Amino acid sequence: MIAYENLLELNKPFTARFKEQFDEFLASGWYILGNSVKRFEQEYAAWNQSAYCIGLANGLDALTLALKAYNFEPGSEVIVPSNTYIATILAILNNNLKPVLVEPDIRTYNINPQLIEEAITTRTRAIMVVHLYGKCCAMAAILAIKSKHNFVLIEDCAQAHGAMFNGTKTGTFGEFGAFSFYPTKNLGALGDAGAITTNDNKLAGIIRQLRNYGSDQKYYNERIGTNSRLDELQAAFLSVKLQALDNINNHKRNLANLYLQNLKRDYILPVVEDGYYDVYHIFNVRHERRDALKAYLLENGVGTEIHYPIAPHEQKAMQEVLKGQTFPVAKEIHDTTLSLPCSYWHTPQQVMQVVEVMNKFV
Ligand SMILES: *Cc1c(COP(=O)(O)O)cnc(C)c1O
Repeated sequence: MIAYENLLELNKPFTARFKEQFDEFLASGWYILGNSVKRFEQEYAAWNQSAYCIGLANGLDALTLALKAYNFEPGSEVIVPSNTYIATILAILNNNLKPVLVEPDIRTYNINPQLIEEAITTRTRAIMVVHLYGKCCAMAAILAIKSKHNFVLIEDCAQAHGAMFNGTKTGTFGEFGAFSFYPTKNLGALGDAGAITTNDNKLAGIIRQLRNYGSDQKYYNERIGTNSRLDELQAAFLSVKLQALDNINNHKRNLANLYLQNLKRDYILPVVEDGYYDVYHIFNVRHERRDALKAYLLENGVGTEIHYPIAPHEQKAMQEVLKGQTFPVAKEIHDTTLSLPCSYWHTPQQVMQVVEVMNKFV
């Protein structure tokens, strides 16, 4: 059986250093916002070519606090892709703002820049782009729209640690980059963790306060904040894994290339375009008979996942909010997409086995 993911295998190469980090943590007697968080924030900012990184409790909080920093008037509109993971939309709703869903480009699965302009109104305050599956969005077009209209750009980088467009890393194009270090992400902790990147000193200060009860001086509260501190131990683990992140991304890119070169053309494969450095958080194919393909692969010892089976606008929780709107491109993707094994611990041989099985599917 080739599992889709196996977190035990994924983290095996790091076990000895995790244990060292735990021993140091235990010996330090300092459990919250200590040196490990500070160190990781500096390391991640440097790695991501961002001026600042603020460690947070998870990726949803990163998205939520990025919007909260602006205190937009309730009901203000925030543009978001219709095929994102639900978290991006929840961040908007959690701030009493109105999500305006825009369809993706069916080729890239990322927000379609041509449709963004049509969705902008006088109430638009922000756009949350999502670099889905590890591919950077069409940032040249999006930045051109940003310079024409006045809105805040927040990047959901939860699936795109290290993805680039023209050599520029995700999380540095907009006012904020929001990262998740959920265990399965390209940079994954051993629990929940997240971060915001920004190049703006003032915005960094606001996020630093918001994550800690609106305070950066004990018992002096300047804002209505929350508790969303990055855990000290998770920060220590993340520093260990950050050293391997370039290798992890390279490995996933190599596996993706094997799929791209060897899968038969019955499958709709991810597009590869000049200027884009994709990190394949998810390697997906699309197929009309996706459910039959998934069952066939399972019978033949290959685990797969669907990202995601139900489009946000079809979720029960969203019926009030997105009342009767339809998003056919998102629906098409959700109905046909299948994610293949493409993790750091998978071998090229395993991927070629998956290819062999897939190429026999009729
Ligand atoms: C994982 C993910 C999130 C949420 O991250 P958490 O750390 O689980 O809160 C947000 N957006 C996208 C696109 C994600 O894949």
